[in-house]
Amino acid sequence: MQFLAGMSIVTLFWLSSPYLERVPRMIKIAQQDWFIETNTGSAIGLALQAKLHEERSEYQKIEVYATETFGHLMVIDDCTMVTQRDNFIYHEMMTHPALFTHPNPRRVVIIGGGDCGTLQQVLLHPSVEKVTQIDIDERVTRLAEQYFPELCANNGDPRAELLFADGVRWIQESPAGSVDLIIVDSTDPVGPAAGLFSAPFFRDCLQTLAPGGMVVQQSESPLLHAQSIIQPMHREMRKAGFAQTRTLLFPLFIYPSGWWSATMACKDGEFAPFRAADARNKPFATQYYNADVHQACFALPNFLQALLADS
Ligand code: SAM
Repeated sequence: MQFLAGMSIVTLFWLSSPYLERVPRMIKIAQQDWFIETNTGSAIGLALQAKLHEERSEYQKIEVYATETFGHLMVIDDCTMVTQRDNFIYHEMMTHPALFTHPNPRRVVIIGGGDCGTLQQVLLHPSVEKVTQIDIDERVTRLAEQYFPELCANNGDPRAELLFADGVRWIQESPAGSVDLIIVDSTDPVGPAAGLFSAPFFRDCLQTLAPGGMVVQQSESPLLHAQSIIQPMHREMRKAGFAQTRTLLFPLFIYPSGWWSATMACKDGEFAPFRAADARNKPFATQYYNADVHQACFALPNFLQALLADS
């Protein structure tokens, strides 16, 4: 017990996390190379044409593959991050539900997000005056520019600022009340991203947010990580002082279990009402997100309702 009490919440997440079991494999099936990512007794796989790049940056191992049917694939520390074919679902759902909930999102911060797909979606909102993206690893962005140029097409927008630093530290040092929305588009809760899933980080986010501010964070698979990530995230966000929390769900083939989530928290009061008319009349096209998807994505299956009612 004394041993447990001495551990940080990050360590507890890590010890209880199925990431301990992750074993990546490049294997051959019937003369075809596959990238296989295993997680808690299951696997997802993509047939490969070629390995285009591999390096060990200061922070992590980064690989890029050409796949048979999903375009380019980026892998960080043996975990699939982004493909050209299905990233639109993740990037649209990490951004538009939060941006169409906040009444007037003007100042947005993205922690992580080095592939720039989230940044691109945020820049579509006319209310946004400034977006600061802080990724710890500049190499992710440089490789995205090379292999995912369509995600980086708007990086030169004068409203966008790209910084390369530790997001935990950056948020710690940012002026109080200076941001309307923080989007945490991070890698899994191990390595450099571990601190982004911790109570002190949530407390610093709360401090950085202006009144009415919100945070949205990728919160892994509802099937595999409900108890180890999603429930503790709700608990820690509320413990940090956030007034309300809620999780939204979406499909994503390339992540473990094919089902993913993001968890939102509002600084004070209640979540503002969905700006449905703005979402229906948005001045830009999306491939997955629309006003009906927005309303549907917050519907929780019974097992999650029960789990989160206890948090
Ligand atoms: N959508 C992806 C997923 O869920 O697998 C995440 C994509 S994005 C490439 C994740 C980014 O988080 C990486 O580029 C990584 O460098 C960045 N990252 C990890 N820890 C970080 C930290 N402490 N501060 C800022 N960025 C961080």
